Amino acid sequence: MSADDSVDETAATAESDDRHDFWAEAIADEIEHGEPDDPIVIKGGVSPSGVAHLGNVNEIMRGYFVAEVLRDRGHAVRQVFTSDDRDPLRKLPRKLADSDGQIVGLGEVDAGALGRNLGKPYTDIPDPFGKADSYAAHFAALLEADAERLGVDIEMFSNTDLYVEGTFDPVVERVLREVDTARDVLAEYQAKAGDDYVPFNPICSECGKLTETVTSVDLDAETVDYVCTDMEVGDETIEGCGHDGTATFREGKLPWRFEWPGQWQVLDVDFEPFGKDHAEGSWPSGVDIAETVLGIEPPEPMVYEWFTLNGETLSSSAGNIVTVPELLELLEPEVIRYFFALHPRKARDLDLSQLDQLVDDFDRFEAASYGAVDDESVTAFAEAAYPHTVDEVADEQPTRLPYTFAAVLGMVDDPALREKLARDEGHIPADADEATVEAALARVERARNWAERIDNAYNYRLQADLPETEFDDTTVDALDALAAIVADGADGETIQAAIYDTAREHDIEPGDLFEAGYRLFFDETQGPRLGEFLGDLEQEFVVDRLRRER
Ligand SMILES: [Zn+2]
Repeated sequence: MSADDSVDETAATAESDDRHDFWAEAIADEIEHGEPDDPIVIKGGVSPSGVAHLGNVNEIMRGYFVAEVLRDRGHAVRQVFTSDDRDPLRKLPRKLADSDGQIVGLGEVDAGALGRNLGKPYTDIPDPFGKADSYAAHFAALLEADAERLGVDIEMFSNTDLYVEGTFDPVVERVLREVDTARDVLAEYQAKAGDDYVPFNPICSECGKLTETVTSVDLDAETVDYVCTDMEVGDETIEGCGHDGTATFREGKLPWRFEWPGQWQVLDVDFEPFGKDHAEGSWPSGVDIAETVLGIEPPEPMVYEWFTLNGETLSSSAGNIVTVPELLELLEPEVIRYFFALHPRKARDLDLSQLDQLVDDFDRFEAASYGAVDDESVTAFAEAAYPHTVDEVADEQPTRLPYTFAAVLGMVDDPALREKLARDEGHIPADADEATVEAALARVERARNWAERIDNAYNYRLQADLPETEFDDTTVDALDALAAIVADGADGETIQAAIYDTAREHDIEPGDLFEAGYRLFFDETQGPRLGEFLGDLEQEFVVDRLRRER
């Protein structure tokens, strides 16, 4: 298949898109069109790195929605995931995630031990945190935990296991038997495919590193002879030890361009989503190798756009990442699932400072699925996708606090006051039962975490007790005057305007009066829009506090 064919795939999907309101339905059509046997196998894959982050979740969630749609249509579906853990560690990661998914610097682990393992497969490198069987097992566990946190059931496969157990034997045998064809195909995609090139990297029995200089192949014995020479990986050179040795087909690995189609064969893959980088890189060669060298049908592909985080490319080394556990401190799992339910071909930015907008969008999407939004385009998408973003579709539309309002409540510690404020503002219905109230208020902690993480205009704490303050007589008079206005029943906007007016009347700077207010309510010198915040609070409390009485 040439690059042009992959454009055709896109066109076919676009046509199918027109018939459906949810992209996963269109992909499911394409898969069914290939008449696969049940169970339908959907694959994702990941290379072990320092941190499992939200970019990896693309691989989990894109496949998940397609799996769910196919299950709704009566198919048995397996969602499998390969960890490309026979790959060598190429360079030291700058950041690692510990077994709880918390990001730590390289300084917190034995970096020297990691450095000595450069060039070895991830499965042969000890877990830097000393818990799992290997670096690879540690990383795979992180990803499995993320999938579980998002409610997605995946079957993890270790590439190393697939080699060691002999599952890959027929693939390796075929590639090495068809080595001339393999070289010819490869030559169309990369420079390194000369007459001596053998697409198999044995693990040196002496130094444990992957090597690439195969000197002869014995198809009957299923072994290769090699010399452990230097290996170029990207910009790095991994030094060989010079050892002459023999390795079996189970003691090495295929280069990635062959390994990927090999996975399709041994796992019987029907569908695989992948990022744009693969679409331009290894997908066309993978299809060619599958058809020409292995003689198998490639799976149905789907290309997704990478999203950016805070406007920048996701990057572990640059520190521009967010993990699933981190994001779950800020968002409900259904909101994260919603983010990945949006169309995969559209580039998006996940801006943590504007998570309120994402949550508002989700709330509208949820409301639309209950027929509460007068917009057919939103409603049609919501009806198709919403059931797959929540654990269970509730009979009644869930009560949700707007995220920024939840952030306002996050400035208040007292749960009873939070509930009262939410009821006063009409965000909780009068007849709501205890469970509804509890579920609605659960968002407050997340919005409060958000305020702390972003340090935005909601990152303040209402002081339950009167802070120690010292005001001059003019300020004291102004605060008393303001108290009288609040006692008269002024709303938030009126209080905000009254702060300016009162300051002017008492011949003090408005900024100084605001500061006095922030001192009284937050024990800070600055804060949110004060008038509106005070308008949300209990009137009596505000009046007493302005009078420095409690
Ligand atoms: Zn060696």
